[in-house]
Amino acid sequence: MRELLQQTIPSLTDDACDKFVAYYALLIDWNTRMNLTAITEPEEVVKKHFLDSLAALPYLKPGAKVADVGTGAGFPGIPLLIVRPDLKMTLVDSLQKRIGFLQTVLQTLGLQAQTVHARAEDFGRNPLYRASFDAAVSRAVAQLPILLELTVPLLKVGGKAICYKGDALEERKNASHAEHVLHTVCETVSVPSDYGVRSLLIYTKNAPTPAIYPRKAGTPSKNPL
Ligand code: SAM
Repeated sequence: MRELLQQTIPSLTDDACDKFVAYYALLIDWNTRMNLTAITEPEEVVKKHFLDSLAALPYLKPGAKVADVGTGAGFPGIPLLIVRPDLKMTLVDSLQKRIGFLQTVLQTLGLQAQTVHARAEDFGRNPLYRASFDAAVSRAVAQLPILLELTVPLLKVGGKAICYKGDALEERKNASHAEHVLHTVCETVSVPSDYGVRSLLIYTKNAPTPAIYPRKAGTPSKNPL
């Protein structure tokens, strides 16, 4: 695992390598008792989970307050935090078991992050969190019109929703209404990869989100914008 990490992500410090090795061990161990990931083979984990998660690094300002919405086993939030411990990371997921796993990962790796067990819809209506983040990152959680409703309300004006996706054109096909009503401007970045087409869709919020969004839990996916 260490050699694979050094070959695939040569910029990693020894300390970051140690943390990724420990994260991998926990992921594989806990995966025998709960459903965390279908990807377990070392090379695939390094490329499709660890390296893929780091794609947003250039778009996160020093000390940025970041929400990882639907983090699951911690992607992309934990790899970002390993490499950038300056980030003020909040990991959000609706499954309590996964939050338990993430707390063990944070403690074992000696990382600081907030974990929140919540539906993103409720999280985004909570005045403690709404309009308070510089960035929201999210991977493999929902189609774009749904995902924008879950993430954009969390952002300060000027903040960025960074959506990890496959083909950007395909993903944006049905998102123009959501992009418009949530007052966002989109920039797409293609991510070099040898494991399929990957892109980041980066939405900058340019005005406050109307109070009706996000709608109550379940509505964004039943009736997408
Ligand atoms: N982001 C991780 C990754 O890339 O491996 C996990 C992806 S997994 C397919 C989707 C995760 O999103 C699950 O852990 C699920 O519990 C969470 N999720 C889905 N809808 C959610 C919602 N409305 N609010 C919070 N979490 C949600």
